[in-house]
Amino acid sequence: MQLIRLIAFCALSALMALTLAHPARALTLLRDPDIEYALKQLAEPVLKAAGLSPSRTDILLIDDSSLNAFVVDRDHIFIHSGLLLKMRTPAMLQSVIAHEAAHISNGHLMRRPINMRNARTAAGLGAALAAAAAIAAGAGEAAGAAAIGAQTSAQRLFFAHTRAEENAADQSGLRYMAAAGIDTRGAVEVMDIFRGQEVLSFGRQDPYARTHPMSADRFRVIQRLAEAYASETRANPAADYWFARAKSKLSAFQRAPKWTLTRAGETGYADIKLMRQAIAHHRRSDTSRAIAAIDAAIAQRPNDPFYYELKGQILMESRRFAAATAAYGRAVSLAPENALILGSYGRALLAEGKVSQAQDYLERSRSRDGRDSRVMRDLAVAHARQGNKGMAALVTAERYAMSGRLQDAGLHAQRASDMLPRGSTGWRRAQDVLSAAQAAEQKRR
Ligand SMILES: [Zn+2]
Repeated sequence: MQLIRLIAFCALSALMALTLAHPARALTLLRDPDIEYALKQLAEPVLKAAGLSPSRTDILLIDDSSLNAFVVDRDHIFIHSGLLLKMRTPAMLQSVIAHEAAHISNGHLMRRPINMRNARTAAGLGAALAAAAAIAAGAGEAAGAAAIGAQTSAQRLFFAHTRAEENAADQSGLRYMAAAGIDTRGAVEVMDIFRGQEVLSFGRQDPYARTHPMSADRFRVIQRLAEAYASETRANPAADYWFARAKSKLSAFQRAPKWTLTRAGETGYADIKLMRQAIAHHRRSDTSRAIAAIDAAIAQRPNDPFYYELKGQILMESRRFAAATAAYGRAVSLAPENALILGSYGRALLAEGKVSQAQDYLERSRSRDGRDSRVMRDLAVAHARQGNKGMAALVTAERYAMSGRLQDAGLHAQRASDMLPRGSTGWRRAQDVLSAAQAAEQKRR
């Protein structure tokens, strides 16, 4: 598991009023291949029912204890870690995903002044997350914003869905759930959490309640539809397992080890119990107990790449680089296309001093997921150690662009552009960052 901190920035004029009022705000993505895989398993039937491509629409976790889920473009559904921990059943989580997928499928993003076509690139994700951070900023600053009418309505126009959109998304979402055989009553349980928040002041509501306006009428419609569809529910042991696993891994990294150890067995899955114990022991720096536990989990699921990946992380953070490389290597052989695992393997190889091999795997990781700032930092190191200053500058430029530091990004992109062969792929990537930096500079003036 890794945390990727992004600083909110503003490359979009419509956001200016907001970001001026709220200076740069850090927003942290939680990247974990195991949890992301689990979320994908849970999302897949929903996305298919919504007519979206499960391979294109990613479910990404934001490290934030408040409850929220939102979309800013077609390619990402963002979920706050606090919301995942709050969900009691897979159906509850899937109802949230279904509702957000419906906002995408029903075209609710089209009327937004924001149009992020390039969110799969580093600079594009930065822009998408700037919008996300502004939503999060709304949480803390809401009281102030409420005093300024114009700003509030700008904020509402920008981030909140209208009641008509909410009703449409509810109905579509429930339809997707029913088509996928998911218990639609999960949607009612989620609404129950937010229903009471109507009466709270704006500043005390969860962001979800603020951007998804509630009403008694809306609740009644959901209840009625959910009951009508409930008979279509089918048992799904895989969804039960992956939901337990995602929640267990997240809580093991976020809650106190003591909390985790006393509850390790509560999901009923032997391997998940061992995984929770491994993480708790690791966080207490008890490496031998941690390794024993993760090895026992691996013995239960010998072809599970994510348990090898966790073993690699434990070893890497205990500075046992050669052993970490071996564990990550096994994970790569089991999941050769997983960008996060490829990146971790490259990082371990780099730590071992195997620079050109490291560069190869880091490059493979970056080409599959250009949004991982840690991979880009490692890649810059690998390029620099091999004397390739142009590429080191380019990757650094892209990393700055992703974290919203477009001025720094522009400087490094200019260096890269000067050093790389004109017209080459790297040179063209440098031009992309340069134009993003120039556009931001013009808006700033
Ligand atoms: Zn909504």
